[in-house]
Amino acid sequence: MTAFQKKYKAYTLRNFRTIPQLSGSLSPAEEHAIDVVGHVLPFKVNNYVIEELIDWSNIPEDPIFQLTFPQPGMLSGAHFEEMEQALAQGLSKAELKIVANKIRYQLNPHPSGQAHNVPMLDGQKLTGLQHKYRETVLFFPSNSQTCHAYCTFCFRWPQFVGIDELKFAMRETELLVEYLRRHPQVSDVLFTGGDPMIMSAKNFSAYVEPLLKGNLPNLQSIRIGTKSLSYWPYKFTTDKDADDMLRLFERVVQKGYHLAFMAHFNHPRELETPAVQEAVRRIRNTGAQIRTQSPIMRHINDSVDAWKRMWRMQTRMGIVPYYMFVARDTGAQDYFAISLERAHQIFRKAYQQQGGLGRTVRGPVMSANPGKVQVLGTADIQGERVFSLRFIQGRNPDWVGRPFFARYHPEAVWLDDLEPAFGKAQFFFQEKASGVFQN
Ligand SMILES: *Cc1c(COP(=O)(O)O)cnc(C)c1O
Ligand code: SF4
Repeated sequence: MTAFQKKYKAYTLRNFRTIPQLSGSLSPAEEHAIDVVGHVLPFKVNNYVIEELIDWSNIPEDPIFQLTFPQPGMLSGAHFEEMEQALAQGLSKAELKIVANKIRYQLNPHPSGQAHNVPMLDGQKLTGLQHKYRETVLFFPSNSQTCHAYCTFCFRWPQFVGIDELKFAMRETELLVEYLRRHPQVSDVLFTGGDPMIMSAKNFSAYVEPLLKGNLPNLQSIRIGTKSLSYWPYKFTTDKDADDMLRLFERVVQKGYHLAFMAHFNHPRELETPAVQEAVRRIRNTGAQIRTQSPIMRHINDSVDAWKRMWRMQTRMGIVPYYMFVARDTGAQDYFAISLERAHQIFRKAYQQQGGLGRTVRGPVMSANPGKVQVLGTADIQGERVFSLRFIQGRNPDWVGRPFFARYHPEAVWLDDLEPAFGKAQFFFQEKASGVFQN
């Protein structure tokens, strides 16, 4: 093995106490909290994150530690005590699960109406697809229902703890191809999960090849939503089938498609290691384009400096900043949320310090039930302080790009906290006749 090579090793609730770096870094109470919170929210970390990303001299504040290790504040006091008592009583696994699920259902496990976007084909529910926006179909391969590590802010967490078991999974790529054939308005397919880059090159190619052979004139782009560059860059450097995966990317590009690698980076630290830099270089050499997205979150990246540096480093590496999201209304949202006003201030100051090439990024964006809503800022109009907003994506394509206004609210953290400005009863998209796109 070269110094660069690494064998993947995962840690979960079962074995996290054997992580060498933990001893001496955490108090017994902090270790206990990982156990309690980890019984409700999913927990998994790996040796790359532990050895190369986390700064163990800065625990528990280190942003990557916060990103991957459950923290006491991620559950409310009442929920924490409920699980703590269940563990102290020595309940069976099945009994613990009942307690955990009761808490989980109170954490809004299905935000933004995701369960309602499942399309049909000949009377059959395509549970592995989501089609919410006219041009783009999300595809959830059954083989990508996990990740190389779990983010503590994850909005897909119900899939990992088993209350949505393989809910979106669909094995049959043939159905996807047929769906694309019958919906010529769809130009983009977005592979998601979990993380599709958990798959071997062989498994992934079984999903991609039918698309390439499908003779689909409407198909323009194949996107891969993934956190593998942050959590396991060796996937593209020294893993056994790294070269096979890269050759598959090359094939997609040579077939004339835009292959977009939608990389999740939450903090500049994740861009700094030799392994990630080599992985980025190799992926870009295939002709694939790397774009990035991340939510803005307290404890992880709620500073101008983090975003300024992250976007600048990305632009220098030839990566395109794409979205800054607002932390979603699910799971440990209370722990991570910052006000929309503060999110916008951070966005604006970091954006101002980018060259033009970095100003491709859009944010802060709420991926909410009616669509992706961007906070453009605050303004004073006719004596009223308001938020100015617009849709970047909408259930109704006609909503996109229309400015609208909400009454200013200094503590609002999500679309649901906002009310229409100027004394209106509803936002324009809530009116009965506003319509949604029908798939
Ligand atoms: C974000 C998102 C997409 C992709 O939107 P783009 O604006 O094209 O990047 C597609 N489907 C869903 C459900 C999404 O949330
Ligand atoms: S990589 Fe994405 S899907 Fe996986 S745990 Fe993180 S946020 Fe969730």
